[in-house]
Amino acid sequence: MSNEPTPVPHFIRNIVEEDLKSGKHQSIVTRFPPEPNGYLHVGHAKSICLNFGLALDYQGKCNLRFDDTNPEKESEEYAQSIQDDVRWLGFQWDGEVHWASDYFDALYAYAVDLIKQGKAYVCELTPDEMRAYRGTLTEPGKNSPYRDRSVEENLDLFIRMKNGEFADGSKVLRARIDMASPNINLRDPVIYRIKRAHHIRTGDKWCIYPMYDYTHCISDALEGITHSICTLEFEDHRPLYDWCLDQLPVPCHPQQIEFSRLELQYTITSKRKLLQLVMQNIVSGWDDPRMPTISGMRRRGYTPEGIREFARRIGVSKSDNTIDMSVLEGCIREDMETRVPRVMAVIKPLKVTITNFGEAQSREAGFHPNHPEFGARVVPFAPEIWIEADDFAETPPPGWQRLTVGGEVRLRYSYVVKCDEAVKDAAGNVVELKCSIDPDTLGKNPQGRKVKGVIHWLSCAHALPAEIRLYDRLFTVAQPDGDKARDFTDFLNPASLTVVQGWVESCVKDAAPETRYQFERLGYFCADRRDHQPGGKLVFNRSVTLKDSWAKEQG
Ligand code: ATP
Ligand code: MG
Repeated sequence: MSNEPTPVPHFIRNIVEEDLKSGKHQSIVTRFPPEPNGYLHVGHAKSICLNFGLALDYQGKCNLRFDDTNPEKESEEYAQSIQDDVRWLGFQWDGEVHWASDYFDALYAYAVDLIKQGKAYVCELTPDEMRAYRGTLTEPGKNSPYRDRSVEENLDLFIRMKNGEFADGSKVLRARIDMASPNINLRDPVIYRIKRAHHIRTGDKWCIYPMYDYTHCISDALEGITHSICTLEFEDHRPLYDWCLDQLPVPCHPQQIEFSRLELQYTITSKRKLLQLVMQNIVSGWDDPRMPTISGMRRRGYTPEGIREFARRIGVSKSDNTIDMSVLEGCIREDMETRVPRVMAVIKPLKVTITNFGEAQSREAGFHPNHPEFGARVVPFAPEIWIEADDFAETPPPGWQRLTVGGEVRLRYSYVVKCDEAVKDAAGNVVELKCSIDPDTLGKNPQGRKVKGVIHWLSCAHALPAEIRLYDRLFTVAQPDGDKARDFTDFLNPASLTVVQGWVESCVKDAAPETRYQFERLGYFCADRRDHQPGGKLVFNRSVTLKDSWAKEQG
């Protein structure tokens, strides 16, 4: 990651630089704290790039910490996928992976400390009662009748909660803060609940689990985090974050800093909703190439470099961060443009017979116009070739530069051909073209006339069949979860996946899964991670289409 582009300044960078300059911190420690309850999505990618990126840029450290306080929703599979995704994006956490559950003993001891200080109590209100006592944004809450229990009684009850003497949900431990606070998060929030659930790390050791807000701040402090960066919905939780740390003898007091979440148009960035797509088999899995998950983007063929560039470009702020999909696609396209070899493929084949094949020759073609070091291959010419059906028009629109009966076009890396006849089936569909080459046009312009159009093609005898998967946006509206009255699945795009049988150049035959190519004029493609077999069944996903500048750029 030594050639990364210059970082874009933003308010969090400013804070970090200020803290280093003033000597508040000698070096920084950040963390990325996902809950292992689903696969990571593009929003998480932004957070990863921010947290790990800051650590890299300022020679600090970034921890990976699993927030595993909801045992029922969490799994090893998710935890593993998250580690894979972070590494694939190009980052490495400091030391071992951390888990909030590593701190369950410490968190319990701190809770006992709070009780001893008279700052936490065991409450037995039912969830409905608790809601009623909490008040609203405009009305203060009411004190729980259990709020003034003695320290001894609270200690006794809390120990018995831990020992499994009470039923799930029958009691909670609450911080004793202020039921009249204008900030509802400070109205005696629950910090422990009883839940007999098997935990992926601690098994059945615990039947009480700490709540997120209480766990997060203490975990940060125990890890010596300097800047605890999170999304804006936690802004109102910051007073609670600070309150907990202020009451307890923790080693340090990290600064919580909030930034706005990334929202991408035409997709969703909520693990819960992505899980729904997976569970309802609307997509093939978390890594379906239409998913905005990191594993989905990976399988589609997006590059880590392109995604990091995207994170850099969209910036970090506290204002709305709804981004057009074209920004992401642009970053991916730009990255692939200079890095991946270019070959030809035909995805909607129309057969062309060359009637004057004679002494025709094949030509060598480089894999990239600006990168001779990518090497070259021979593009074999033959009496039967495939062209793209869309490159022929019987009645062409004005300005048409591709093939039509009586018209000429350049075959990429080969001859100028003229279409002499369109052969039709009984239903009147064009099923084949009869064309003739101008033998004097290999590597040179035709005499006395200009042929502007250039089309891609393949020799029928040499091309290999391939399954080509073409993707469109997953939803038909920019904000699928914007309409509260309707389910986001109402806006699924039925045409988000099109599978076609096409042809590719034989030089891609042994491509490993995840090898990327530009298929000239068609876009950037990636050999599918799961289904593509080198030397066997070839499967390519279209990662992103090309900009429409091809005709100008290639002569
Ligand atoms: P979701 O709402 O999709 O379940 P989450 O916030 O609950 O996401 P976590 O696993 O808690 O998911 O997230 C880990 C980190 O990633 C958090 O610091 C969170 O703020 C950040 N994050 C999550 N979604 C986004 C997003 N859309 N944009 C930026 N950061 C995000
Ligand atoms: Mg969360």
